[in-house]
Amino acid sequence: MEDHTTTDASLDLLLRVRKDFPETGAVLQAYLRRTEADCRDLAVAGSRIRLCKGAYDEPESVAYQSDLEVSRSYVRCANVLLAGGGYPMFATHDPRLVAILEDRVRWYDRPVDTFEFQMLYGVRPVEQRRLAELGYAVRVYVPYGTQWYGYLMRRLAERPANTALFLRALVGRK
Ligand SMILES: Cc1cc2nc3c(=O)[nH]c(=O)nc-3n(C[C@H](O)[C@H](O)[C@H](O)COP(=O)(O)OP(=O)(O)OC[C@H]3O[C@@H](n4cnc5c(N)ncnc54)[C@H](O)[C@@H]3O)c2cc1C
Repeated sequence: MEDHTTTDASLDLLLRVRKDFPETGAVLQAYLRRTEADCRDLAVAGSRIRLCKGAYDEPESVAYQSDLEVSRSYVRCANVLLAGGGYPMFATHDPRLVAILEDRVRWYDRPVDTFEFQMLYGVRPVEQRRLAELGYAVRVYVPYGTQWYGYLMRRLAERPANTALFLRALVGRK
């Protein structure tokens, strides 16, 4: 999912593609004010939704600005997805959110094959292994192909916080 100007088009496309390919997934970004409602629409049987915080520098009119507001929105969205019949994919490296999600999946009595955790390759590998050893599915995201350098540079340029994410991953192996 890219910046908020593309959200409607992406979700329209998802609905059309899912008619023929119901396993098609989409990403929702918890920093967008609209996302809790989108989760409600998409928390249906067979629906695969990756929930991330969001990586773009978005205006206040459409997006929560503080870390706390974004995290609270993430938890509300996770609750909606876990209460529904779909397959949520929790894409975050945030230890506080991971702890809350571990609690929420137990609260909703979710079998381990009905959701998963996702993290970027090389970011918090020890945590990835810890979750896998607990029996959770952990998917590791690897950007690949000839466009990787442009992708990385766009991500770093879009939002300074992304640079911090990569630097933390380089120095810390938690
Ligand atoms: C699989 C995947 C797919 C994604 N797809 C999209 C997408 O389609 N569109 C989009 O906009 N964004 C996407 N993102 C990026 C996402 O929106 C966030 O920008 C990014 O994941 C950073 O947020 P965070 O929740 O991981 O934690 P942050 O908000 O970066 O960090 C929160 C806290 O986590 C801890 N932490 C973070 N990294 C480390 C570390 N390496 N070591 C120790 N502690 C650490 C720190 O305490 C930090 O304060 C994706 C992310 C993933 C993992």
